[in-house]
Amino acid sequence: MDAAEAQQRIVVIGGGITGLTAAYRLQQHAKAYSLPLEVLLLEASGRLGGTIATYCQDDLLLEQGPDCFLAAKPWGIRLCEDLGLADELIGTTTAHRQSFIVRAGRLLPVPQGFYLMAPGSWRALLATPIFSWRGKARMALDLVLPRRTSTTDESLAQFVTRRLGREALERLAQPMIGGIYTADPQYLSMQATMPQFLDMERQHGSVMRAMFHKQRQAAPEAASGPRYGLFVSFRRGMQTLVETLAAHLPPASVRLHTPVLALQQQPETQRWLIHCATQPPVTATAVCLALPTPQAGRILRGVQPALSTALQEIPYASSAIVNLVCSRAQVAHPLNGMGFVVPAVEQRSLIACSFSSVKFAGRAPQEQVLLRAFVGGALQPEQLARPDANIQRAVLDDLRALLGLRGTPLAMSLTHHPEAMPQYHVGHRERVASITALLAACPGLCLAGNGYHGVGIPDCIHSAENATEALADYIVGKTARRVAVG
Ligand SMILES: Cc1cc2nc3c(=O)[nH]c(=O)nc-3n(C[C@H](O)[C@H](O)[C@H](O)COP(=O)(O)OP(=O)(O)OC[C@H]3O[C@@H](n4cnc5c(N)ncnc54)[C@H](O)[C@@H]3O)c2cc1C
Repeated sequence: MDAAEAQQRIVVIGGGITGLTAAYRLQQHAKAYSLPLEVLLLEASGRLGGTIATYCQDDLLLEQGPDCFLAAKPWGIRLCEDLGLADELIGTTTAHRQSFIVRAGRLLPVPQGFYLMAPGSWRALLATPIFSWRGKARMALDLVLPRRTSTTDESLAQFVTRRLGREALERLAQPMIGGIYTADPQYLSMQATMPQFLDMERQHGSVMRAMFHKQRQAAPEAASGPRYGLFVSFRRGMQTLVETLAAHLPPASVRLHTPVLALQQQPETQRWLIHCATQPPVTATAVCLALPTPQAGRILRGVQPALSTALQEIPYASSAIVNLVCSRAQVAHPLNGMGFVVPAVEQRSLIACSFSSVKFAGRAPQEQVLLRAFVGGALQPEQLARPDANIQRAVLDDLRALLGLRGTPLAMSLTHHPEAMPQYHVGHRERVASITALLAACPGLCLAGNGYHGVGIPDCIHSAENATEALADYIVGKTARRVAVG
């Protein structure tokens, strides 16, 4: 080992799930390759986890950010298994695996077999009161309309109105898909968010025909069921993942209260200089920016103006989560589901609400219920411009009308998530491709996080893993050119 090798350091900027995964995987790479590598994680705030935050007291467990992740994307489960957390994972409860959509102020069950924007059978379509007869007839036209031949990107609104009609967009696709991305369907990219529906149109000529086909092919669930359900969480909340990752990092490798202001690359050595608000500059062989893209863009202003601009052009939406603890007797609705979504055309303050203590076991004391309401998003930013007390009051008014909530909740908390959800607008994939191309001019720099190839926790984990593999390659000098967007 020579002196230069001995000084190799990778700095990860951002201590959310992406940055923590990156730091953890880098430590593993260092061990695997026997690299004399120091990993340093710089986090602006006083805590780790970013958007993920769990509040626990006695028998109460509130998720102030995400409350679960998709089991079908393998990277989340695999990380948990690597961390020895498999026994801590819990699926959603099996008692009430349905959700509701609001129509004319009433909660109507989403029929079995519906998937995000389309029905899986005639029976499901004909029986549901979610759509008018006119709306259903328009949806059925999808079976005979010609398929689109152009391969250019289009918005969710364009796709759904073209195939299934306006009512399917307003009553189903907007609240279901908009709910996932807190997005405006007029701008949301089909290619970047819902490519499976584009494949359905391409392969079957019709979304509904593809759905019917899928439904017929679906194997009846094995008696034991899948190991985990569609979504998983942790017995003691999402913070478990954050705390376990942090516990695997040497304490000196994490610096809290360290906002990074700017990066600079020294032309002769290609080493990075990281300027922080609270301490002298840190040097590094390589850097992983595990941040929302606007923050990453601001930090890179002096490194590559075109890259900085491209990153800042990806918009983010704000939202807020209101957790409410109520006594069971205060809520008239049977709460026989996981929660509900609210179409924007209903003109409510709420965009969705989870019945958290029904969805997951062990979230609220006996005879109490925990509700988790969402406000804001790209379609209703004005809701968040009000004082917190007014937001809470509006949520209560909606829950009184929709769930028959009576009186004042036993406890209530509001958590803001400013500019936390990336908006994958039409053309997003090309935007990310051009960011990747610009990044090639910055050896030893990686970008990871929710702004590129997926917004969910497993996507962020995957993005961190791709980025750190590329950085490990860079460090061992194998493939300096592979450094790319994670
Ligand atoms: C309200 C909400 C609910 C969600 N629910 C789910 C869900 O149920 N399931 C799911 O899979 N996904 C969900 N998501 C998406 C998912 O939670 C996020 O995409 C993911 O947590 C983002 O993680 P991250 O580490 O990339 O970014 P963040 O969590 O934003 O972390 C970035 C970190 O970087 C730090 N930082 C910022 N600037 C600097 C700087 N200059 N210097 C140093 N540090 C800096 C921040 O303080 C922060 O800690 C949800 C998102 C939101 C907003």
